[in-house]
Amino acid sequence: MWRNLPPPEVAVLTFFVCGFVIVYLLGSRGFCFQACPYGALFGIADQLAPGRIVLTKDCSQCGLCTKACSSDILVHRELAQHGMVTNPRCLKDLDCVTACPEKAVRFGFRMPPLFRKGHPMGAYGGRFSTSVGEDLFMAIGFLIAMPVYRGLYDMVPFLLAVALALCTAWLFVLGWRLLRKSALQFRGITLKMDRSLRPGGYAFSIAILLVVLFFVHSALVQAHTLLGKRVFALMAAGRADARNLNSAIWHYESALRIGLLAPVDRRFELASLFNQAGDRQRSEELLRGVLDDDPSHAEARFRLGELALARGDREQAMRQWNENLTFGKDQSGTRSREMLTRSALALGAAHEAVADLQGASAAYARGLTLVPDDADLLVASGALAHRSGRMDDAVRFFDKALRNGAPEPQMRNNLAALHMQQGHLEFALPHLERLVALDPNDARLRYTLGALHARMGSRSKAVEHWSVGIQLDPADERTRQALAALQPMPSNEAR
Ligand code: SF4
Ligand code: SF4
Repeated sequence: MWRNLPPPEVAVLTFFVCGFVIVYLLGSRGFCFQACPYGALFGIADQLAPGRIVLTKDCSQCGLCTKACSSDILVHRELAQHGMVTNPRCLKDLDCVTACPEKAVRFGFRMPPLFRKGHPMGAYGGRFSTSVGEDLFMAIGFLIAMPVYRGLYDMVPFLLAVALALCTAWLFVLGWRLLRKSALQFRGITLKMDRSLRPGGYAFSIAILLVVLFFVHSALVQAHTLLGKRVFALMAAGRADARNLNSAIWHYESALRIGLLAPVDRRFELASLFNQAGDRQRSEELLRGVLDDDPSHAEARFRLGELALARGDREQAMRQWNENLTFGKDQSGTRSREMLTRSALALGAAHEAVADLQGASAAYARGLTLVPDDADLLVASGALAHRSGRMDDAVRFFDKALRNGAPEPQMRNNLAALHMQQGHLEFALPHLERLVALDPNDARLRYTLGALHARMGSRSKAVEHWSVGIQLDPADERTRQALAALQPMPSNEAR
């Protein structure tokens, strides 16, 4: 469960941006009003609701209700204009009711704002309110900023991307206001007065400029990354050519060169591209860099082993696969599980190649500890147990492999053969019967099943399968002779 959570630094950044920056820029409920889809839904429902904050007697317009409202509604003005709060931002938390010294406000029932004559929609104002044009600008800015921030450097999760996109869009609006307006105040700080910037205005201008630069830079990095990844996916699907390969390498290298961070997965993908392009040396350099930063990167370590084997260094290849089984981690959303399996299989095969059956057995066993019940590892373990004369272990491995998705005909064939070798005919029988059911037209299988029945004393069944076998393959001398030999034999069933 924990491995799916963002790293601590990202969690802290998310908390800081969502908890402080966005509240400072957009007000304490800015996220609810500007970004949250539930906020939008409740805002619409509110316009149909008769339960409202209403004015019940004369009001001195002291403004304490507005001051108390954390939804940034100009409560005193709404009460004066409409006799109730019509703004859909109202959460009915009654803070204004408590704050009113005249006891002039309370919760009551009135005609819903949507059905009132002269619907006040669009006339809402507040300390953080924006014009329709600014809202549109923010919406477009948000939609552009979202894909720029989402997944940036493989670090930015959805919620943080939403918050960053919202803050960026709002700062752009603030920058636009700073340019256009002759006087501007924000959060009690005078930014501009008589067409000239004040110290606060300079500070905000620099902050906005930095945000613009960061945004443009991030957009460039993200564009190179996404374009590179797109071609990478095409190459993985076998739908790209050499020109695409060069283009993908260029995009990846550009993103890594200009980026503030170099994510390990991007470097790993670039290493794969260089390998495909035939530049194994560059590929190895990149993979070593990935492993320096993340020694548990199972995919990088497996590939490094493969590259070592390709240049004839079996010892180095075995060391990498061995280390993968020690340090490699199964990380969700990657092919690390498959790479751990392949490392165990490759290491086991390398041991088998030098007749080190014990080493091979240990490699498969370590693989099964990391990836329990993996069918390929179970099959390899079964085959090795068979080669080592451990028949019971072989049966156990093949049996488990069969239950975990290994190819059924191959597993049943192995199991039937093993049981017959051990003289466990009754255990071999269901596997052979299933094999015949899977492929009723296989004359060889018919012969074996007939022979098994004959050994078990079921003459009629042996005759039945051998007869079918001869029909399927009239040239099969072996079956013909077996059938001929059986004909005069007295049957057990007849006795
Ligand atoms: S706090 Fe009460 S008296 Fe003051 S403006 Fe609001 S409603 Fe009027
Ligand atoms: S009920 Fe709460 S949200 Fe609504 S106007 Fe009063 S203080 Fe603001």
